[in-house]
Amino acid sequence: MRALPIILIAVLSPLLMGAAAHQGVGRGPTAHIDDLIAEVGRERELVLVFPQDAEATHFEDTWGDGRSGDRRHKGSDLMAPKSTPVYAVADGVVSIMRKSGLAGYWIGLEHAGGVESWYMHLNNDEPGTDNGRASLDQVYAPGIEVGSFVAAGQLIGYVGDSGNAEYSGSHTHFELRVDGRAIDPYPLLIDAHRRALEVARLDRLAPLVGRID
Ligand SMILES: [Zn+2]
Repeated sequence: MRALPIILIAVLSPLLMGAAAHQGVGRGPTAHIDDLIAEVGRERELVLVFPQDAEATHFEDTWGDGRSGDRRHKGSDLMAPKSTPVYAVADGVVSIMRKSGLAGYWIGLEHAGGVESWYMHLNNDEPGTDNGRASLDQVYAPGIEVGSFVAAGQLIGYVGDSGNAEYSGSHTHFELRVDGRAIDPYPLLIDAHRRALEVARLDRLAPLVGRID
């Protein structure tokens, strides 16, 4: 009978260890992506290319903040100097090119899986001015038209202060939509920004490495 507790421990310990191991497994850095996917109710891979020159851009989490007229902020504001390049976050097709009162000049892309990305307040000024008289090639990149295919990371336009950004500093209001509903892009942008900064750093190192060889 004395052997019984030992046998019990021998039988139970792999189970206990298994349970402990499971508890130790965190959800890792992709947890926010899992949350977003859960939010939209189906499996989707959402990994973005950062939509602007990363070193020239700063941004904060302003999702849901109050805006004029009882609106809520449905995106991230990517602050950067006028004419900073704006890039497509993923492969897609240009679906919207429009000018409106609040958004100013803006562009929308359609991606796979019901995902859309919107980029608002593009440049509306001639270089070095605030005159609102930009030509269209100072708003959008060459060859960008409704129906154009764009690759992830492709230049699509330039940062500006058109629409109601006129008094808040030049930036891109970036919005990410799934099945027509805006989702919080901030966690995905943080991840994309970190990767883009790392690439920029490696690009700067590349000439030095060449010299060492
Ligand atoms: Zn905004």
